[in-house]
Amino acid sequence: MPLIVTGSIGIDSVHAPTGDAEEVLGGSCIYFAAAASFFTPVRLVAAVGEDFPPHFMDTFRRFRIDLAGLEHRAGSKTFRWRGKYHENMNQRDTLSVELNVLAESLPPVPHQYRDSEYIFLANTHPAGQLELLANFPHRKLAVADTMDLWIETERPTLLELLKKIDGLVLNDSEAIMLTEQTNLIRAADAILKLGPKFVVIKKGEHGSLLVHKTGEVVLPAFPARDVIDPTGAGDSFAGGMMGHIASTGDLSLSGLRTAMAYGTIVASYNIEAFSLERMKQIEKADLDKRYKLYRAMMGA
Ligand code: AMP
Repeated sequence: MPLIVTGSIGIDSVHAPTGDAEEVLGGSCIYFAAAASFFTPVRLVAAVGEDFPPHFMDTFRRFRIDLAGLEHRAGSKTFRWRGKYHENMNQRDTLSVELNVLAESLPPVPHQYRDSEYIFLANTHPAGQLELLANFPHRKLAVADTMDLWIETERPTLLELLKKIDGLVLNDSEAIMLTEQTNLIRAADAILKLGPKFVVIKKGEHGSLLVHKTGEVVLPAFPARDVIDPTGAGDSFAGGMMGHIASTGDLSLSGLRTAMAYGTIVASYNIEAFSLERMKQIEKADLDKRYKLYRAMMGA
């Protein structure tokens, strides 16, 4: 089933111990969409500005993303983000963010997208996430991601969103920031009380944790030797996970576990190069091969 996503499309500049990438394609929406496209058709609703480099469109085409909902907005500028990784690559500082078009309203949802059943609200302004969600009263599953900036600056809107979604994906420090708990499982319990039926907490190189009303799942990360750029790891994890769910329709705990495992595998490829360069080189068969290896590592 088609999966629809909104989120940021960005012009990123990344500084890492492995090198620098200036003004490359990034944003939560594009990492998510590329990762999900290995499993299911992906529709996108997002805007870029007049400064969006035309050659970035080749990447959208490479992943066969449906672009009817992409607006090139006259008079606006594209979202920009600049980040710097510490020596160990697990920590990152945001050096600058220019919200630009992200602070404006979403483009209209194309009529042909109205039958979308799987909705992902990738990391962006929670007002934009709420705006997209309102278009799909008959959805099967709505999942959102968020981050520290929105927890700090848009908490009331984020809390309103949490009441309306089925699942939340966020990283460990964000779960703690949102709930003011220090223990991750307690933080997850506290998030379930805010509305969602399940929460997936991403723990970087330590894997991921799912807490669902019906039980828990813990998964390790795929052991990665060559981490070049972790940017988009969380978004590509979510894309692999949601793409897999949309392709199977399986919302059982074991279905969610398999989907999380595929998310783990897509993310492990994404971090092997800057921007989306590594994802561009692989096919679904590569994901299946690494997924088998991952299961074997766990004795499964
Ligand atoms: P991740 O590494 O999974 O956290 O995703 C990094 C991507 O998120 C980058 O490509 C950025 O363009 C994008 N990003 C950074 N800050 C924000 C923000 N406040 N809202 C939306 N997207 C963001």
